[in-house]
Amino acid sequence: MALTHSYQLQQYGGQPVRVEHPLPPLQNDEILIRVTHAGVCHSDVYIQDGYQDLGNGEKIDFADSTMPMPLVMGHEIVGEVVATGNKQHRSLIGQRRLIYPWIGCGNCPSCTGGHDNHCEQPRSLGIFRHGGYAEHVVVPDARYLLDIGDLDPAWACTLACSGLTVYSALQQLLPMKSGSALAIVGLGGLGLSAVSLARKLGFSTIIACDIADDRLDAALKLGADRVLNTANSEDAEQALKSLAGQRLHGVIDTVGSPATVQMAIGAVAKGSRVVLVGLHGGQTALRIPLLPFKALSLIGSYTGSLSELQALIALVRQGGIAPLPIKQRPLCCLPDALSDLRRGKALGRIVLNP
Ligand SMILES: [Zn+2]
Ligand SMILES: [Zn+2]
Repeated sequence: MALTHSYQLQQYGGQPVRVEHPLPPLQNDEILIRVTHAGVCHSDVYIQDGYQDLGNGEKIDFADSTMPMPLVMGHEIVGEVVATGNKQHRSLIGQRRLIYPWIGCGNCPSCTGGHDNHCEQPRSLGIFRHGGYAEHVVVPDARYLLDIGDLDPAWACTLACSGLTVYSALQQLLPMKSGSALAIVGLGGLGLSAVSLARKLGFSTIIACDIADDRLDAALKLGADRVLNTANSEDAEQALKSLAGQRLHGVIDTVGSPATVQMAIGAVAKGSRVVLVGLHGGQTALRIPLLPFKALSLIGSYTGSLSELQALIALVRQGGIAPLPIKQRPLCCLPDALSDLRRGKALGRIVLNP
C-alpha cells in the first residue's frame, strides 16, 4: 500500500507531529493533490491554541466544535493533481492548481448562493478537513481547483487566504468617496497583501498602520502612501485622523483587538465603513452613538467566495501587483514557523514546501 505523510496536530496546545499513513482511497469526485506549497497563516496559531479569546474570560473552545482531532492544518495550498476519483477529470493529472479551501456543505442557502465561506456546516480544508501541511491533500471536487498560469506558486498559495480575505474586504469598501483615505491596520500576511491589492484596485490614499517599523517599511515598498507606528504615537486615533486629512472613509482591521477596533471607530469620518477580518480577540466597550452619528458601518468579514478567488486570480494574472515578502522553508519547519508567527517574528508569509 502506498504511504504518504502529514503533520498532524494531535492535541490542542501541542505541536504538529509527522505521521506516516496510507494514501486515502478516492471517492467519486475527489481529487488527490501532491502539495508543493503551503502558506502558514496566523489562524493556525489560534487552532494550535485550541480556542478563540472572546474577552472577559469567555472563549470559543475548539474542542466543542466539529473540528477533527488529530487535524492536519494548512489552508493556503498549491500542488499538482496526481489522481482523480472520477475518470472525467483525468485530464487534470499533472496540472498545477491552487485550492479554494473554504468549502461548504453544498446544500445550505449560503452554499447554493455561492458563499461556501458562510456555510453553517463547513468542510474548510485545514480546519474541518485535513489540509496542506502534508505530502498529499484530498479535495472534494474539481470545481475548487484554480489555474494559476505562470504565477509564482509560493505567492499564489497565499492568495487562498490572506489574498482572498483582504480582496473580499476591500470589495466591501468600494466605491470609496473621491479624495478619501483607506487605513490598513496590522501588516502581517493579510495587511501587506491588502496594501498591494488596494493600490491595484485604485484606492487613492493608503495609510498602513502597525507597531513594527520593518513591517511599515515593507508596506511603503508595496505602495502605501503613508505609515503610522501606532506604538510610538501617544494618541493613535488622532494621529490617524490627521494623516488621513480628516477623510478616513474605510478601514480594514487585520488585527481585531480592542485597541485597533477603538482606533478605527474613533478615527473614521462620517459615512464610512470599518471591515474587521483579524481574529486577535477580546472585548471592548462600543461607543454606541458614534455609529449613527458617523453613519458608520462596522462589518465582519470571513475569507471570501469561490467566485471572488477566481476574480482575484484573474486580477493578479493581469500583473501590476507587488507580492508580499515570502520565505520558503521545508515542511518539517512547521513548528518553528508557527512559533515565529506567534512571536511576530515573520515578515510577510512563511510558505512550506513538502
Ligand atoms: Zn488563513
Ligand atoms: Zn453549506
